Amino acid sequence: MTCMRMRADIMWNAVVACRAEYDGVFYYGVRTTCIFCRPSCRSKTPKRENVDFFASAREAMERGYRPCKRCRPDLLEAVYDPNGKWIREVQELLEREYRDPWTLDRLARRVGVSAFHLQRMFKKYTGASPKQFLNRVRVEEAKRLLADSDKKITAICYDVGFTGLTPFCTAFRRLTGMSPRAYRNLRLRERPDENRNRQLQE
Ligand SMILES: [Zn+2]
Repeated sequence: MTCMRMRADIMWNAVVACRAEYDGVFYYGVRTTCIFCRPSCRSKTPKRENVDFFASAREAMERGYRPCKRCRPDLLEAVYDPNGKWIREVQELLEREYRDPWTLDRLARRVGVSAFHLQRMFKKYTGASPKQFLNRVRVEEAKRLLADSDKKITAICYDVGFTGLTPFCTAFRRLTGMSPRAYRNLRLRERPDENRNRQLQE
């Protein structure tokens, strides 16, 4: 059962905060109403002592719970791939919170799996480690800022979550084949005359 790897307090916090990234990872049922929901459901937060957690919609229904009409947890189940789903959620999490100082352990705690399992499954599904994926997200955002903003390269480096210029430049060069400055100059040359002077002034 997928969700039993997760701690109950993590699941409960996800329910209270209506966290969509846990949809499909687990379900919760409310004993007093016999209705079960996805974590993201906006219905009133139940009392903790009335809540049961389930790894699948099927399991909740077998236990006598009916699907909530609002969040339709029964529909999600049809497209639910237990591993693909939580891996996608890790990707979405990193795409959203790439500025945070992630470590593998912290990420694993957040998702509720072991660091070993996270590293192995993420790589199996995406072909990259979580760190490589995160660097890709950060470099993409840095490319956008280099092209569309006047921010200094050092500021961009920290803005997108890198801890220093060396790791930033190494990751940037690995993924683009050039330095951040070369990338900015290249993009500026592609733009109309108004931007030409920016490059010369730097
Ligand atoms: Zn619901």
